This record gives sequence, C-alpha cells and structure tokens, in this order.
Amino acid sequence: MTKRVFNFNPGPATLPLPVLEEAQKDLLNYKNTGMSVMEMSHRSKEVSELIEEAEALMKELLEIPQDYRVLFLQGGASSQFYMVPMNFLREGSEANYIITGSFAEKAYKEAVKIGPTHIAASTKEENFTRIVKPEEIKLSSHPAYVHITSNNTIYGTQWHAFPDFGDIPLVADMSSDILSRRFDVSKFALIYAGAQKNLGPAGVTVVIIRPDMLERVPDHLPTMLKYDTHAEKNSLYNTPPVFAIYMVTLVLRWVKNSGGLAAIEKQNEEKAKVLYDVLDNSGGFYRGHAQKDSRSLMNVTFRLPNEELEKLFLSEAADQGIVGVKGHRSVGGMRASIYNAMTLEGCRALADFMKEFQRRHG
Ligand SMILES: *Cc1c(COP(=O)(O)O)cnc(C)c1O
Repeated sequence: MTKRVFNFNPGPATLPLPVLEEAQKDLLNYKNTGMSVMEMSHRSKEVSELIEEAEALMKELLEIPQDYRVLFLQGGASSQFYMVPMNFLREGSEANYIITGSFAEKAYKEAVKIGPTHIAASTKEENFTRIVKPEEIKLSSHPAYVHITSNNTIYGTQWHAFPDFGDIPLVADMSSDILSRRFDVSKFALIYAGAQKNLGPAGVTVVIIRPDMLERVPDHLPTMLKYDTHAEKNSLYNTPPVFAIYMVTLVLRWVKNSGGLAAIEKQNEEKAKVLYDVLDNSGGFYRGHAQKDSRSLMNVTFRLPNEELEKLFLSEAADQGIVGVKGHRSVGGMRASIYNAMTLEGCRALADFMKEFQRRHG
C-alpha cells in the first residue's frame, strides 16, 4: 500500500489527514519542550492547557451551557454503561432504557446488575431497523433517568429528534455521532462518547455532565467511578490518556477550522445522501437495513442479493483502496461508516464503485 485508503472502518475510524500530519510534526518535540507529548508529566503546564482547551472547544462547538463540565475519562463508552447507574440509580427509582440497538442493550444489561431497571421501549423485535416513535415510550413510575443511544453504530439508525421527558434526566450514549450535527445539549443531563469514532483515537471517553448531576453522586462509590472526582480535578485525578486527549484537541481545532458544527453537519448530510441515493436508485440490488426515516448519517448499512456477491464486493472494493465496509456480524452485509473525518471524495469513490459493481454483477 503506497497511499492512504478510503477507510470506512466503524471505530477506531479514519482521522482527518491534517490532524495526523500535525501530530507527526509534533511527535519528537512538542512546543519546543524537547520531548513528545507522550513523555511529559500530566501535571505539566502543556498538558493542563491541552485539557482546558479541549473542554473549551467542546463547549464552543457544541454550544454546551457554561456550567456543564466536560470530562476526559478512560474505560471506553462501555464503562459508562455501569458508571451511569452506579452514580444515578437511587433506591426507590428505576433506570429507564430505550433499546434501539446492541450498544443500548449492553448498557441496559449493565444497569440490571446495579438496580431496578425498566425497558421503556425497544425495536428489537424488528431487528432494530428503526428508532422508536414517541408514543411507544412507556416510562416506569419513578424513573431515575432515561437512557438513549443517539446513533446505532451497528444497525445504522439514528435519532433525528430527541425525546423530552421534562425533569427526568436524559442520558445519551453519543459515541458514534457526537460532534456530527447540532443539537440542544441543555436537554441532556449527561452525554458520553468513546472518542474513536468522531473525536480521535481510542483511549479516551468524553463525558458532558450537568452540574446538578455531579451533586447526586453517592459518597460510597470507589473514587475513580465517581463523576465528581474527575470534575473537581479537571480530569487530572490520576494520569489521564494524555496522547489521546491531545489528538482530540487537534480534531476539535480541525472541526472549528472547517467551519464548526453547522458546516460539518451540512457536509455529513451531503455525504450520506451520495450513498443513500445509490441504494434508492439500485432497483433493490442494494437493500438498506434501516427504515428511511431512521437512517443514520454516520453508518450506512445495506445488503446485496446474496452472500457470494457480498464477498466479491468486499474484495473488489479493497482492490480499489476502499476498505472497512464489512458489516457487523449481527446484521451481515455492508456498513460504510462515514464519520466527520471521511471526505465527500471518499463517499463518491464508494458510490461510484457501488454503481459499477451493480452494472457488472446486477
Ligand atoms: C463503539 C460504541 C460503543 C463502545 O465503545 P467502547 O469505547 O469500545 O467501549 C458504545 N456505544 C456506541 C453507540 C458505540 O458506537
């Protein structure tokens, strides 16, 4: 391989080329310190400044209310599956889950281990081809919070309008669509996202948390599992994943320089349309997994007429430098993950390949 490929991997995923180039430039000597950012103390001025900048840029780009905190934690989004109920599931209340995919179900199963839970809605019976309708949601009598998954990475579905439950805290796993579009953060009590889809490399998990939620954290929890520990210490209670945070900061600067969230959102809509148009105009050769009104702008999932053709599709695509399009085993078929860093050019290359493949094999 002599050049970079069009990388449609679902996560870890492609990163913006200018970000990788900047990291390469900084690698041996960060800001004239004579060392890499990986080699310096997490208590150094340079690292504190990186963390402060990352929090400030997250707030600016997502228009997060100023009193919210942005934390940089470890353990992946999967650790949030248990941290959320450990911190917020109080006696006499139930954790409510809306199950729209595999990760939502995993989050629910972790909460079951912690305390009373309730499934407020689920589309599992329909193999997660869609998001639930507002009228299908039935909350329990004393909900501690309602948990949703904004984008279902494996099935390729996405919430296009978020539900509103008034005073009941709304918690969202936004691992695969954070920073891909504008939305009202003030409607959420807590948002979490593993970085490796839209924000940077694996190794850091971003948590956006409303101040009153920090006050609800029970004292008896282990120190590392309490959100307030990390908020009070600006994500520096222990050694944070410094290099991953540095990469996230570069990605956030790149988003800002690309015109911010409005521009990114427009670009993401354009990219997804290029691929969905191919599905819709293929006369049924390409069959999308998601129902139209639930389609994800981040993960485009589809099947071909048979598994033989699917195998051929993958190998011919790879020959043309198009990689990472194999679907998750639970859905089969293809999945093109087109996070922020995937270019319009990459989506057009895949779309052209799809049309050409159908012409030859359809
Ligand atoms: C990838 C993903 C996860 C898992 O993240 P880890 O960081 O590997 O724990 C959870 N939720 C969603 C929606 C994801 O896309």
